[in-house]
Amino acid sequence: MSTLTSAVTVRAPAKINLHLGVGAPRPDGFHPLTTVYHAVGLCDDVTATLADGWGVSMALPHWIDADDLPADGENIVDRAATLLAAHHGIRVSGLVSVVKAIPVAGGMAGGSADAAAALVALDRVWDLRTPDEDLLAIAAQLGSDVPFALLGGTALGTGRGELVEPVADHGTWWWVVVPSQEGLSTPAVYRHFDAMFPDAAPEPCGADALLAALATRDPHRLADVLHNDLQLPAIDLRPDLGELIDRGQGVGALRGLVSGSGPTCVFLCESADHARSVAAALEQDHPRVLVANGPVAGAHLVEYA
Ligand code: ATP
Repeated sequence: MSTLTSAVTVRAPAKINLHLGVGAPRPDGFHPLTTVYHAVGLCDDVTATLADGWGVSMALPHWIDADDLPADGENIVDRAATLLAAHHGIRVSGLVSVVKAIPVAGGMAGGSADAAAALVALDRVWDLRTPDEDLLAIAAQLGSDVPFALLGGTALGTGRGELVEPVADHGTWWWVVVPSQEGLSTPAVYRHFDAMFPDAAPEPCGADALLAALATRDPHRLADVLHNDLQLPAIDLRPDLGELIDRGQGVGALRGLVSGSGPTCVFLCESADHARSVAAALEQDHPRVLVANGPVAGAHLVEYA
């Protein structure tokens, strides 16, 4: 029986990369990656409502500048709607509102989370029942991190990051997340990686040590093997990130790491209490410090009418 749904809210998480191995650019310009994605409980909510016309609106917290988001019609949500509608040969319609909590251009794949949430929400209000594998293929066209935002949890990413498979992760990992006031462009960090490492191997470094540490559920073991090949270029462009990582480790975090291409930095802690105490110490110098745990679910329905 088909039940018509007039409005749907879907929540999608931010990601961090527990391992990010980057190889030399491929002929198509993309860098081959071996990455371990990890979804953390810092989420955007996307509500799609049936309507004749089409519109996307964004509700932003005071610390996100509207100028950092693209003009009308160029939001990744518009592109997600266009691709999903084209896949089914239907017309784009509806009102989509995005409540953002994930930093923009922060290395946490906030735009990808919105795209994944929009795909799931529109699939439901348009009553399409798109098979998972088709949704994943559409997601991959939208961006390398979008398939993971659908999947959530902890997952191995290969190719340019778009080929994702879940990995066993039975731990609960506690993170302090420190977004930056200013974004950092992902393409600029990759360009800087190429300039710093002109002899990078074509094959990115593998994630076996990271996957083995996940299985131990021991945050000290995980801290030892967190790895990000974009960290040096990000810090070279933004030396304040190196200082922040030193400071977080100085106040007791097990390990600090640039998240993806940055500039958000994340700090692995032993427990929720430990994370709160590291966060309190970092709050003295940083206006926004968050505590989040992972892994959490990928894009999922939280409300419908
Ligand atoms: P990644 O880690 O995947 O590179 P990011 O977290 O660094 O992503 P995003 O927040 O996804 O960066 O933003 C990347 C670019 O996408 C920005 O230039 C932003 O203006 C644009 N963008 C388009 N739509 C959105 C959206 N809904 N939310 C955030 N950014 C968007």
